[in-house]
Amino acid sequence: MDQNEEDVEGLAIYEDIVSEVLAGRVEGHKCPSCGEGELECTFDGDHVKISCPRCGRYFEGMLA
Ligand SMILES: [Zn+2]
Repeated sequence: MDQNEEDVEGLAIYEDIVSEVLAGRVEGHKCPSCGEGELECTFDGDHVKISCPRCGRYFEGMLA
């Protein structure tokens, strides 16, 4: 599998959730990957981390 292609897809599916986390809404997001897990989201000022306790998929991003 093409790793870069997978990363782009990962970014796309988490984009809306990242926007909400940045806006301060860190709870109540459903995992876009498995559709069942409730995501654990944190934002510490410049670093976003989103992870699913159910399927283990996660996204991490640093704001420029
Ligand atoms: Zn999941």
